[in-house]
Amino acid sequence: MMATKSTPPMPIEEVDEAIARAFRELEWKDAREDLIRLGENSAEYLRAHVELEHTIPSPSKALDCRRQMWYKSHGTESDRGLPESWILAAMSGVVTEPIWHTILAHADPRLEVSPVSTLDLGYGVGTCDGELRKLPGKPLIELKRRTGWAFEFSRERGFQAEEENGVAQAQDYMKAAGRKWTLMLMSVADHSFYQNIMRKFKRQPGKKFPFYLVEWIEFNPDYSKRITERQYGTVELLNDDEPPAREQGIDNKLLDPDNGNWPCHTPDRVGGCPFWKKCTERGP
Ligand code: SF4
Repeated sequence: MMATKSTPPMPIEEVDEAIARAFRELEWKDAREDLIRLGENSAEYLRAHVELEHTIPSPSKALDCRRQMWYKSHGTESDRGLPESWILAAMSGVVTEPIWHTILAHADPRLEVSPVSTLDLGYGVGTCDGELRKLPGKPLIELKRRTGWAFEFSRERGFQAEEENGVAQAQDYMKAAGRKWTLMLMSVADHSFYQNIMRKFKRQPGKKFPFYLVEWIEFNPDYSKRITERQYGTVELLNDDEPPAREQGIDNKLLDPDNGNWPCHTPDRVGGCPFWKKCTERGP
């Protein structure tokens, strides 16, 4: 994507510092009260989230393998179950979102998150994690939660390079909602473990590794157009009776399910695509 000289709605350093200050100043005694209020108020939010209609292709998986999406949309039985720990991770991710809303409201009144109605994306529908109504242009917000290595890669290289699906999703939402900016906020699921490993791996024993990252994503009409074209192309392929090619990413790069890499497999081969067996049996 092209570099931009536009000015975001709030300097990212200010957003970062406001959140850091909120954590520094938040007394755990007060936070417990917040948690109780949060529990009372978040039922509605969680219900809306859980009941969210998931379309295939979904906005959060815009760049996923098209053959995998075909299997999913045709109700194909999985070859293997997901690792059980992924279920806990997915549940924790959803519950973390209202917690972040509370932290952001503590951080700066301008960062208070308001809900956004379901967006019509043309090929389907989607619901973003909210909007920052008190900032100019009412930017959207997208919350992500990742385990150590995915978080570290984003820390090192930024979301544009490492969170292609998340950035594509933000582009889709901004287009539908008519916004220019999205604040993307990522937290790490296992900070102590992540920091411990990174301190050893990077030989930086005293370094404080962050537990969240923030970045502004700007609406890019050209990139957005390419995402929309891919989504509509995928919709057509999903209507076919036969699974399509193993295409992934904005450039429809062909995947090799045998090379032991994501998304077909995790490097240790315990996770990845639930249809790996069917896909390899079928051939290219
Ligand atoms: S194994 Fe890989 S190439 Fe095959 S459907 Fe799954 S993600 Fe796509």
